[in-house]
Amino acid sequence: MSEYLKPLPRPSAESKPYWDAAREHRLVVQKCNTCGEFWFPPSQRCAHCLSDDHAWTAVKGTGKVFSFVTYQRLYHKGWDGEVPYVVAVIELDEGPRMLSAVVGIPPEKVACDMAVKVVFDDVTPDATLPKFTPV
Ligand SMILES: [Zn+2]
Repeated sequence: MSEYLKPLPRPSAESKPYWDAAREHRLVVQKCNTCGEFWFPPSQRCAHCLSDDHAWTAVKGTGKVFSFVTYQRLYHKGWDGEVPYVVAVIELDEGPRMLSAVVGIPPEKVACDMAVKVVFDDVTPDATLPKFTPV
């Protein structure tokens, strides 16, 4: 197996549950126990009502491409041989938006509002990245 050269997640106390779940191929986000809304990225307070009462909750893993860019130049040696590639803002069906990669489709075919679902890329024994692919 070749060495993984891209940056790896560095879980914080707040984001560790997200990365731990990803390693188990589960997509979780925080859900507020006060107002019922979901939010991402991880934080100690609800982005909607500021409550600190929340639970990490599994989401369906489906959503749509809210916005995206296609990288045409190599900015990091980890992507050598993979240009062009797409970095997208994915809007989950539950509402939160997250930055991720769109895979399994040529970059020129990616479009806003495209329906996508999560896939899990085990990039190292300790790190799994949630990515998205067309439904
Ligand atoms: Zn809330």
